Amino acid sequence: MIEQKRVLNTAIPGPKSQALHERKLAAVSAGVGTGLPVYIEKAAGGILVDADGNQLIDFGSGIAVTTVGNGNPRVVEAVQQQIQDFTHTCFMVTPYEEYVLVAEALAELTPGDHAKRSALFNSGSEAVENAVKVARHFTGRQAVVAFDHAYHGRTNLTMALTAKNMPYKHRFGPFANEIYRVQMAYPYRWPTGPEHCADEAFETFVADVHAQVGEENTAAVILEPIQGEGGFIVPAPGFVKKVADWCREHGILFIADEVQTGFCRTGDWFASEHEDVVPDLITTAKGIAGGMPLAALTGRADVMDAIHTGGLGGTYGGNPVACASALAAIETMKADDLCGRARAVEALFMPRLEALAEKYGVIGDIRGRGAMLAVELVSDQEKKTPDADLTARINKYCHGEGLVTLTCGTFGNVFRFLPPLSASDELLTEGLDILDDAFASCV
Ligand SMILES: *Cc1c(COP(=O)(O)O)cnc(C)c1O
Repeated sequence: MIEQKRVLNTAIPGPKSQALHERKLAAVSAGVGTGLPVYIEKAAGGILVDADGNQLIDFGSGIAVTTVGNGNPRVVEAVQQQIQDFTHTCFMVTPYEEYVLVAEALAELTPGDHAKRSALFNSGSEAVENAVKVARHFTGRQAVVAFDHAYHGRTNLTMALTAKNMPYKHRFGPFANEIYRVQMAYPYRWPTGPEHCADEAFETFVADVHAQVGEENTAAVILEPIQGEGGFIVPAPGFVKKVADWCREHGILFIADEVQTGFCRTGDWFASEHEDVVPDLITTAKGIAGGMPLAALTGRADVMDAIHTGGLGGTYGGNPVACASALAAIETMKADDLCGRARAVEALFMPRLEALAEKYGVIGDIRGRGAMLAVELVSDQEKKTPDADLTARINKYCHGEGLVTLTCGTFGNVFRFLPPLSASDELLTEGLDILDDAFASCV
């Protein structure tokens, strides 16, 4: 077991990481970027150990994936056992129980007590692609409505759903058609103020879909109940429910993309629960399987079973090792009450983030829920001018001190926190102290 302690032996990145990075540049496409080029050899709990023996505090969980922490004993054991038993048969050729167990767990855990069915895939993008396939097939309609600041992936269809050009879409077109974009209820930047945001954004949404798409042409509306890459934007309270209810009235399927928000991250099993919404279809990935690649589409049985046999699938989808890992991760989330832990993380972070806002005057908005929190940095509080430069400098400072942090946001000015839920208060507090130093040094 790796000691849950930050250790800096060298500058970050150290000489071994730098040498590896030279090789990376010579062998890996420049298109694949790295936020912090320290090369990791081991990780456990909230600590990443690099090639130079530095121990870094993890505030990113590999982008909300290692919610149960690296090196989780249940996950390690389940994966080792499954690898010995068998690694692949292809579920579409000769099936196995682990896949069925994951589908059963998804039916139990996702919002709503209606009959559900799932299909398993390899990545969040693939789950979203399949949600759109299913919604179009079931409704016989083509249009899909997505929101400003949305992130749904990098495949052709999901690029079309994703809002941000750089780096996700730039010169990668043409994109899939029949995708329409509407305004998100973004409280901090809502022109008439956050108190009017939910109602006005909903009115705009209804008017735009009616005028520009047509309800009877719309197969689905897809929404992240807290937007991820787009800036950890928490939709104005009530907005998500209004949209979901309106969809139901018009025979439009409501897809919750919970790839980032799912599996205890926001203090509930799924962020839709907080909104009192039962999605028709829900996509999951990231935190589902303790770091193994697995994704799922779960939805109403009548919708999911409308697809002809053979219409959904893929060679690796629901790989048995990934499924075994997911079952162990889910067991850990239940046994260790990781939803409760996410809420405790929020309680630990919030006063510290508020203190940063008070002390440095550059934080325009603090938002998020559970262990999915962020601050939006601005150079002018009145005008809310995004300060991407300051965000990048603070990020770099944290990296230099051995704290792995991530930024996000349409304007590149959001600093986000996604710690593993196995990290101790002590470790998280040390990370927050470094963050305070970073603000002190960079503002
Ligand atoms: C990360 C993410 C995706 C894409 O998942 P990949 O596994 O990277 O394909 C889709 N939707 C949301 C909300 C995400 O955060």
